[in-house]
Amino acid sequence: MEPSQTDYQARFQRNPLTIYEAQHALIHRINSESVEVIPLEQAYMRRTAQAIRANMPVPHFQRSMMDGFAVKAEDTRNVKQDIAAQLQVVGSIACGDVWKRPVETGEAVRIMTGAQLPEGADAVIKLEATSDLQRRTTGQSVDDRILVHQAVSIGENVNAIGTEMVEGQLLIEKGSRLEAGEMALLAMFGYEYVHVYTKPRVAIISTGHELLSISADIEAGKIRNSNSYMLLAQIQEAGGTPYLLPHVADDQHQLTQLLQEALQEYDAVITTGGVSVGDHDILYDFTQNWDGELLFNKVQMRPGSPSTVGFLHGKPLFALSGNPSACFVGCEMFVRPALLRMQGVSEPYRTPLRGKLEESYHVSDTFVRFVRGVMRTQEDGAVVVRPAGVDMSSATISIMKANCLFVVLPSPSGLKKGTIVDIVPLRLFN
Ligand code: AMP
Ligand code: MG
Repeated sequence: MEPSQTDYQARFQRNPLTIYEAQHALIHRINSESVEVIPLEQAYMRRTAQAIRANMPVPHFQRSMMDGFAVKAEDTRNVKQDIAAQLQVVGSIACGDVWKRPVETGEAVRIMTGAQLPEGADAVIKLEATSDLQRRTTGQSVDDRILVHQAVSIGENVNAIGTEMVEGQLLIEKGSRLEAGEMALLAMFGYEYVHVYTKPRVAIISTGHELLSISADIEAGKIRNSNSYMLLAQIQEAGGTPYLLPHVADDQHQLTQLLQEALQEYDAVITTGGVSVGDHDILYDFTQNWDGELLFNKVQMRPGSPSTVGFLHGKPLFALSGNPSACFVGCEMFVRPALLRMQGVSEPYRTPLRGKLEESYHVSDTFVRFVRGVMRTQEDGAVVVRPAGVDMSSATISIMKANCLFVVLPSPSGLKKGTIVDIVPLRLFN
């Protein structure tokens, strides 16, 4: 069916939201959190659904920080440059052992790093500050008396109970990603299983008559579907599980059926292509004739201004531009925060940095531009950024080259070299 003249005008007369209005409208609609319990060994990079507090102090016993001797500090009080104290060694404590009786005045117990300080002792003298009295006098190694060459004070070389963490202390907030440090803490406190948010299941549907599957031979006028695979990566980076559905040609009927099913089956659906004002832009038509709620279909940003988001059956539909860079930025700006919110993250936006433009950026625009950039730190420590290459929304190579997006506010002339800009880091350096 050919679009009517009035439909056509409506396509152009969209109400563009600012990026902040659009993100705000979206994030406040997301309320579908679900939780599962999994073994800790499978929890890396998952988001915790429980706040984790220390269920005991750490350390939970007085712990030696050195290899040396557990002593009463009082017994070393008179030690000076040439005056050593002599102590009787009454035994040895390995890590994990508990000494059987209190240490008395004049006694020392050999102790290893990490072992529990025996009762009666209140300090540890490091091994290097002692010598073996018998070996000194007779040349034989008999380990029952030592000379102490340094005074120690009470608590020296001992980790007191709760030095590192006190009982009840909040350690990991709800929604945090479980990385190496979090995994170590959870293990420390005995979490064999952990409550995490389920990974949102996200369907990907690319649309376009020109699309070939990646196994197909290239044909004149056609291109392989690369967006689906880019989105597959972006969804995983945001903690979701992607489902690649078959791409559809620009067929309104087929698309409608597929979308209706997908929005029942999955937690979210992303489409690419067909959201602009062309003759075959079937996503626009779909969102005009559905029983869902359209949040926006134009955003004051570039690339990705036709990014469209709505809800059907309580599930978000992200209809992104087919242009690879626009699709990438649309996913970054809307899909990522929404998926993070579904995983309990209260602040789902990346933390921007600031840096200096390394070269002038002369593009005039009335919309905010998120430019694919390469950021780095200079020798003087300053952060600098430059465009990552081909700055067109149809470009793919600059997505690969970019490690950030830098923000160019609406301007008639662009920005001069040296201007300070906001930078949204996309990946870590390695
Ligand atoms: P559209 O948003 O449908 O107008 O598409 C805009 C541009 O993106 C066109 O040049 C399409 O050929 C291209 N494109 C659309 N879908 C994809 C895709 N899945 N992978 C790569 N390029 C695409
Ligand atoms: Mg298309």
